[in-house]
Amino acid sequence: HAKSEGRNCYCVFEAAMHAATARKAEVEVALRGAIQNRELELHYQPIIETDTGRLKGFESLCRWHHEQLGRVTPGEFIPIAEDAGLIDQVGRQCLELAAEQLASWRSQGLVDPNLYISVNVSKRQLLVPDMIDHLERVMANADLPCSSICLEITETALGDNRVPVTPILKKLRRLGYRLFIDDFGTGTSSLTSLHDVPADVLKIDRGFILQMQRDLSYTAIVDAVINLARNLKMTVIAEGIEESAQFMQVQTLGCDAVQGYLFSAPLPADKATALLAEGKTFAPQDMAA
Ligand code: C2E
Ligand code: MG
Ligand code: MG
Ligand code: MG
Repeated sequence: HAKSEGRNCYCVFEAAMHAATARKAEVEVALRGAIQNRELELHYQPIIETDTGRLKGFESLCRWHHEQLGRVTPGEFIPIAEDAGLIDQVGRQCLELAAEQLASWRSQGLVDPNLYISVNVSKRQLLVPDMIDHLERVMANADLPCSSICLEITETALGDNRVPVTPILKKLRRLGYRLFIDDFGTGTSSLTSLHDVPADVLKIDRGFILQMQRDLSYTAIVDAVINLARNLKMTVIAEGIEESAQFMQVQTLGCDAVQGYLFSAPLPADKATALLAEGKTFAPQDMAA
């Protein structure tokens, strides 16, 4: 009896494995088509200056809706793109979309020259030999200064030093691009790596923000991270602010900017354009209300 149960277990496990593999294969095929037909889109999430409520820029986040599969999240398709060798093309299309969007907002007079769009860049993408050439072409075509597109690189990507990305990051920075360290607090990089990586902005991961409310000792950690970043002349953005209590906490700790559902979800291009046309500021008193 036990034997047949064990066997049954094995079958269930195997079936689940098969389903996961089949789903991955299906997503990969669909993704190839989406790249071909340029069906990837970007949504834009406001990044807001803590003290003034002014819009500093947007983080661009990749969105994909497939006819049969429906909405596929970047959490699912980005790792698949990485494994299938498609991340380079996904990344290029996202970069092109972001640059075109910012150029269009600038030409319509909707944004001031300092407004930026940040683009998420995966480690594999950084290591593609002509990544910088492509980036330079995109910026030239869109007639944008390098400082207007910021590159977000996760702390996890930086911590993995099997392949050194620091020289690439240094080159990007020399060219005038701004670098954001994304999801800080989720990787395993040591604090000293902050000193070695030439970054302009540190984004504190949402996980830290969540912990802060449950566990006071996290407030001390976030406080230390903010102070360290500031001493290294970096700006700090807190991610995933959903509640005004969280906002007030990071404001008190001296966080420069914030991002999260409390202010706005990532918006499709037309909604982001409407927000700019409206000239909306996110007044701190509203934010804390
Ligand atoms: P990320 O770069 O850390 O982006 C932040 C994620 O948190 C986004 O999820 C965003 O929609 C979500 N978010 C923003 N505010 C809140 C909040 O207040 N509460 C909660 N619970 N979530 C919030 P999304 O869009 O699903 O993206 C997930 C991840 O996928 C991103 O994490 C990023 O690592 C990756 N990704 C997205 N777009 C791209 C892309 O174009 N290229 C690459 N390489 N990766 C991308
Ligand atoms: Mg990001
Ligand atoms: Mg992030
Ligand atoms: Mg994050």
